[in-house]
Amino acid sequence: MGKSLKSNQRKIIVILIVILVLLIPINIYLYLNNISLKKEYQSLNKDYQTNTKDFKNESNKIDEIKDKLDKLNNLSNDTKKIKEELFKDIKILEDSILNNKSNSKIAYLTFDDGPYYSTYKFLDVLDQYNVKATFFTTSINGTNCFDDNTKNCMALYKEYVKRGHTIANHTYTHGIFKGLYSSIDNFINAVKKQEEKVKTETDGYITNIVRFPGGSVTAGRLKSGIIKELQKLNYGYVDWTAEDGDGGNLTSRTAAWNNFTSTINEKIEVVLFHDFNKYTLEILPDAIKYLEDKGYILLPLFYESNMIKKS
Ligand SMILES: [Zn+2]
Repeated sequence: MGKSLKSNQRKIIVILIVILVLLIPINIYLYLNNISLKKEYQSLNKDYQTNTKDFKNESNKIDEIKDKLDKLNNLSNDTKKIKEELFKDIKILEDSILNNKSNSKIAYLTFDDGPYYSTYKFLDVLDQYNVKATFFTTSINGTNCFDDNTKNCMALYKEYVKRGHTIANHTYTHGIFKGLYSSIDNFINAVKKQEEKVKTETDGYITNIVRFPGGSVTAGRLKSGIIKELQKLNYGYVDWTAEDGDGGNLTSRTAAWNNFTSTINEKIEVVLFHDFNKYTLEILPDAIKYLEDKGYILLPLFYESNMIKKS
């Protein structure tokens, strides 16, 4: 019995050992398999996390872009709406001034022949006094500044818009002695070309006010024909009622000042300046104060204004 028990125990132990030995490769297999699964899981998990992170980043970005687009839309819509409302109000004010129902006065500061490199200085003075003006632009010198051939002046177009000024059309060539007035077509093409230039440089600003280079009288016998064509293009034109003479030979600050003050006498003034002239730049702060002291409100021009002639 004792011997048989021992022999049985031995048998069981041998069987157990055999089973354990047989189980080793299975265990190894399972162990290895487990590691590879774990690795796969880790890598998948990592991918998942990176993907969600990327997606989260991108969806944040898209939200930001949409936000900014909305703001951009609102901004331009707001600006457009504000401008429309502002111009409507100014038109009502003009009407009552012209009908002697108001004692208010308006001065429209206008600057011809730019953009010049010196235009930045004029813009800064206007900003300083919180005055919005009108810039009659031309492309006499292509994309370069007329007063500095080494500099590109195209950034100024966006600057006019950014600072709330009116951009107007002074023809692409300004070629008074170079055929601008040799035919109606020549003039109109020079207007269209400058309109295109402004549109391109500002991302869509459309000009609708022209000033004839040299004044509308310079067009001579072509004037009425040109005006008819301008009408078809929804353009009006404007000359000026006051100036400091900076388009001619200004020799001193005093001369500029005297010219300027002696021409201020209307209830609504359109003041002609050139944004390259150093004497005009010198008198500009005083000219603004002078007008404001006399009760003028300084405003930017707009198509519907009574000062913009349509026929
Ligand atoms: Zn001019």
